[in-house]
Amino acid sequence: MKEFDMNQQWCQSCGMPMGYTDEYLGTNADGSKNPDYCSHCWKDGQFTSPELTMEQMIELCVPYMAQDSELDITEASARQLMQETLPKLKRWKK
Ligand SMILES: [Zn+2]
Repeated sequence: MKEFDMNQQWCQSCGMPMGYTDEYLGTNADGSKNPDYCSHCWKDGQFTSPELTMEQMIELCVPYMAQDSELDITEASARQLMQETLPKLKRWKK
């Protein structure tokens, strides 16, 4: 498995890498970019799926991560990784 580059931006909701540009950032209500969340999680100033629990988010993302040839990760390790990472992100931190 590849080392993650922590210098790039990470979505504070789903934990996905957002690269170094604002291309994948979510949009605020005024049309500006939100540096904390990706365009899948955050749109027009709100979460696209506000009812989602952290566990549901993990199950949603695991298949995508497992299919990602760049990540080269099994479904089990993807789930483990998310279970470790997501509780530290802004959206899920208590
Ligand atoms: Zn996201």
